[in-house]
Amino acid sequence: MKPIDEMREVLKDPAGYVQKLKAADGRKVVGTFCSYAPEEIILAAGAHPLRLFGSGENIHQAEAHLQSYCCSLVRGALEDALAGRLAFLDGIVFPHTCDSIQRLSDVWRLNVPGTFHIDVILPVKLDTEGSRAYFLDVLNRLRRELGEKLGVTITDERLRSAIGTYNRIRAALMQICDLRGERPEILKGSDFFTLVRAAMVMDRPRVVDLLEGIAAEMKKRSVSMAAAWPKKRIVLSGGICNYPDVYTIVEEAGGDVVGDDLCTGSRYYSGLIDETAEPIAAIADRYLERVACPAKHKGLSERADHLVRLVHQKRAAGVIFFLLKFCDPHAFDYPYLREALEREKIPSMLLEVEDRLPADGQLRTRFEAFIEMI
Ligand code: SF4
Ligand code: SF4
Repeated sequence: MKPIDEMREVLKDPAGYVQKLKAADGRKVVGTFCSYAPEEIILAAGAHPLRLFGSGENIHQAEAHLQSYCCSLVRGALEDALAGRLAFLDGIVFPHTCDSIQRLSDVWRLNVPGTFHIDVILPVKLDTEGSRAYFLDVLNRLRRELGEKLGVTITDERLRSAIGTYNRIRAALMQICDLRGERPEILKGSDFFTLVRAAMVMDRPRVVDLLEGIAAEMKKRSVSMAAAWPKKRIVLSGGICNYPDVYTIVEEAGGDVVGDDLCTGSRYYSGLIDETAEPIAAIADRYLERVACPAKHKGLSERADHLVRLVHQKRAAGVIFFLLKFCDPHAFDYPYLREALEREKIPSMLLEVEDRLPADGQLRTRFEAFIEMI
């Protein structure tokens, strides 16, 4: 089986895949939300980190606990938990980020029995004098608590090994993204999405092998390919984009996603961790140096500056903002990001989605109109 096919297979049934892992060697599974969950510490504890997105089933039970104006990610994940579809989880780690995730944590603690539950109360402002010390304190506390819950001592050696694994995953994804940026025809956008999503679900050492193999293969192929690529280069910006079809429809409409600023994209894999430094400090520093998401604060214009830089770096012709309905952090950020693009004369369009994409044809027409205009 080709590496990408193995990853596609896993994503057809992530829960089934993880249950098989668990049955094979008895490892514990810890669910996470959001790229601010320090997966390195979970892996160092000998557990398997599983990013939760909601399986997309209809929402029934979650409605009794959450307002209908919570985002579909939060409602979908709670529905899965209440319906028993996540009963295989041994624990859950909630980073303190947007309001919806914070409230989900409270509802989960009271209504989903049988798993340990850890809140990681990270600082909101990431650029103050005290924020690094605060960050370190919170991560050290997570290291202690997780060790106690899982009955292991999370040594520096274990942390360094986990950091090494994540660095290899992130380095491979960054390399694949760069190769795609230069030669988008080498790997479809929806396939790149598959790689990133699978990296959040699969056994991480296996992910290293698969991604490094794919990156090496792409490098070889890119050398022998002719240069022309007629499609319009697009950057995708927003929060969670759990819809591979978006990439396909952009491609069918004459564009190509060559870069992103998404939680299901570069926010997951950007930035390597210093393997020579004290491990907890090094994990904290990656978060502090990474471009913040809108649920955190780090300067007034950091996100806009980053987006404009990204568009120029990727030689993109325009930006598609992809927002989940009721996602306040991204909705509040959108006007100022759009204004920053307008100042640079970079065209953009907004696509807002609730729990499923608009009909195929309707979306293609909107993308075609935008791509024609740019
Ligand atoms: S926008 Fe921020 S808080 Fe929300 S899921 Fe992404 S990284 Fe997490
Ligand atoms: S940041 Fe937005 S999409 Fe992510 S959990 Fe919060 S409200 Fe939902």
